[in-house]
Amino acid sequence: MTHLSPCPPPAPPASGRGVSEHLRARIAAGGPVSVADYMAAANAHYYASCDPLGAAGDFVTAPEISQMFGELVGAALADAWARAGRPSDAVYAELGPGRGTLAADALRVMRGAGFAGDVHFVETSPALRQAQAIAVPGARFHDRIEELPPRPLLLAANEFFDALAVEQWVGDEQRRVAHDGTGFAFTVDGDIRETSPQRDAAAAALATHLARHGGVAIVIDYGYSGGETGDTLQAVRGHAFSDPLADPGEADLTAHVDFAALARAARGCAVSRVVSQGSWLETLGIGARASALAARNPGQTEAIGAARRRLCDEAEMGRLFKVIALRHADWPAIAGLEP
Ligand code: SAH
Repeated sequence: MTHLSPCPPPAPPASGRGVSEHLRARIAAGGPVSVADYMAAANAHYYASCDPLGAAGDFVTAPEISQMFGELVGAALADAWARAGRPSDAVYAELGPGRGTLAADALRVMRGAGFAGDVHFVETSPALRQAQAIAVPGARFHDRIEELPPRPLLLAANEFFDALAVEQWVGDEQRRVAHDGTGFAFTVDGDIRETSPQRDAAAAALATHLARHGGVAIVIDYGYSGGETGDTLQAVRGHAFSDPLADPGEADLTAHVDFAALARAARGCAVSRVVSQGSWLETLGIGARASALAARNPGQTEAIGAARRRLCDEAEMGRLFKVIALRHADWPAIAGLEP
């Protein structure tokens, strides 16, 4: 990635003020802002102007660890498409494609299986759109899920929902972010419960599209399958955790995804069970894929094994990351996510 600067971003936003100043002025004028508003403002700035991914950036995602990840997602989508009768109007779609790595790896497998459909990305960051257009020439861009074309979707979303804003609640009181003159501070502390109207709206829009036009969606993210409470808002900068209130817009703000809430919001389509990323990738044959890759690249055998362990081992990404599939009721279940 030579054409995009790693974070922190080199230039202030168009307003001429940093997001920190913007939030301060907003709090001075209207009082403390919700955690969701704070997170949305910080992330909009963060993703808009730089490339946060990879070794030089702030964090590394599964598709950046190994091509095996995107290849297996692509194989699962191609398999569902084949069992649906290979509809020629289906399109590959992705939410928040990052550098476009997952899409490029998935599409290589899907093209090999005969899929010839168009590619549609939902992405708001101009900097990342640039990278995606290079990784996947011909991709079309959209700001919102609702703008995807009225076609059956073969959709992937990896680490998209965790970047969408969460609200935090202590009892019935919404937790807000204030500014005391020297820095940002939370208005209340206590036992925290998180909700996310922004995620619910995205899941509902995706489900509505699938119910109307057909297709399947694979959503992968870190989080829990339901019932948990607690503060999961975190900031990651330079591959280390940092204070979410320290420098809004300069670190990646995420919160764990509540998969039960996502499933509830996906009204109108069939929703799979939730499976851990490690067991899903093993079921899909990452072992065989790793052996085949190593046979062709003997010098890479160690690295390929290490990547597989990083993606699948319970102590690494294998258990914290989870997979869920949404689909039109008449479409087949995604492999490894059958009822
Ligand atoms: N899927 C990629 C990138 C994950 S980072 C990977 O696995 O490597 C989150 C991605 O979602 C980035 O591409 C970011 O720009 C995008 N994004 C974040 N909030 C968004 C929003 N509200 N609408 C559309 N895209 C968003």
